[in-house]
Amino acid sequence: MRLIVQKYGGTSVGSPERIRNVARKILETQQQGCRVVAVISAMAGVTDNLIKLARETAPQPEERELDVLLATGEQAAIALIAMAINSLGGRAISLTGAEAGILTDRAHTRAKIANITPRQIHALLAEDYIVIVAGFQGQNAEGETTTLGRGGSDLTAIALAGALNADACQIFTDVDGVFTCDPRVVSDARKIDEVSYDELLEMAGSGSKVMQSRAVEFAKKFGVEFEVRSSLKNAPGTVAKEETANMEDVVIRGISVERNQAKVMVDDVRDEPGIAGRIFSTIARGNISVDMIVQSVSEHGTTDVSFTMHENDLPAAIELLAPLVKEVQAAGLITKAGVAKLSVVGIGMRSHSGVAARLFDCLGRGGINIQLISTSEIKIAVVIDGGDVDRAAQLTHQEFGLAKFVPASSL
Ligand code: ASP
Ligand code: MG
Repeated sequence: MRLIVQKYGGTSVGSPERIRNVARKILETQQQGCRVVAVISAMAGVTDNLIKLARETAPQPEERELDVLLATGEQAAIALIAMAINSLGGRAISLTGAEAGILTDRAHTRAKIANITPRQIHALLAEDYIVIVAGFQGQNAEGETTTLGRGGSDLTAIALAGALNADACQIFTDVDGVFTCDPRVVSDARKIDEVSYDELLEMAGSGSKVMQSRAVEFAKKFGVEFEVRSSLKNAPGTVAKEETANMEDVVIRGISVERNQAKVMVDDVRDEPGIAGRIFSTIARGNISVDMIVQSVSEHGTTDVSFTMHENDLPAAIELLAPLVKEVQAAGLITKAGVAKLSVVGIGMRSHSGVAARLFDCLGRGGINIQLISTSEIKIAVVIDGGDVDRAAQLTHQEFGLAKFVPASSL
């Protein structure tokens, strides 16, 4: 019998009615002759509210206690799903992460899965139970509750699918799949049928957050194929898998947009060993993640070091960097909030040349100024003015022919 791991996100279980809808979907899957393990997230907003509650109660709650608190969100959801299935005549049982055999390291609030011993899941499946597992949580070697970082239910589902050697892993969410671009920005954006792990990772890192990045990394490492699809419709979604030869035929798989970015430039700093190290270790002390690091070609013994970050982190970055700029005698710190990042992603870039030229030319024709450029083997990213980003995405989407196929007869 086929074994299917399904995951339902917070919006999909956001109300009693939606919980009953998910219960019906799980039952239908079983009625099609499958054994089902369903991983469930906390109901929409619950985790955020618990975090808020903790912060209102104590200024700096211990991470251990935060985990005990946050894990309750998923525990409520699994019990409700199991009740709903049982009330519809099914046979379901809920398991916490610990009961499901998910062992993690000790890093509370961002624990990594160390191994999975799904003994109890196997036993329950053998007794024809539908097994409902709490996402986002596990236990460490001491038996303490841990959580896997925000969005961690995706990781639970992927890891369980791998450990159980499931025949399929379906990630149900409130969107139809992965799109060529955000449909709110580009109205004729199209659902992508298949995407490689690397493309999905690059797209996630560029603002298309359909899946937790760690979950995709895990899937890539262990070759767990999965499908992202809508819990509200009955239609195929997007399959993420190892790349196949024909995937390279498409030049660009998708375009991602990241708003509310800030650009920082350390101007005219001495071109000497150790300077970049000092700049970025200073920033790291503020726990600020930086992106798109660009150093200019050195001229007269000095160079400019530029990078981007979320604009909310800019005040802290300025405070940290100001003394360093003086110390290393740079000309100054030039910063700009309100910029955005546009990335085009596709493994087809490896075999098609001229993608960068085409992108820059397209933006140039649109009168859109490029402020920073960075590339990887399968991505080209540009920083542009925040006000230009929607139009830039629309122009680029059109340039690379990503729109829905429109039959000539309907034009
Ligand atoms: N409930 C957790 C969160 O909101 C985990 C998840 O939804 O995947 O981050
Ligand atoms: Mg300069």
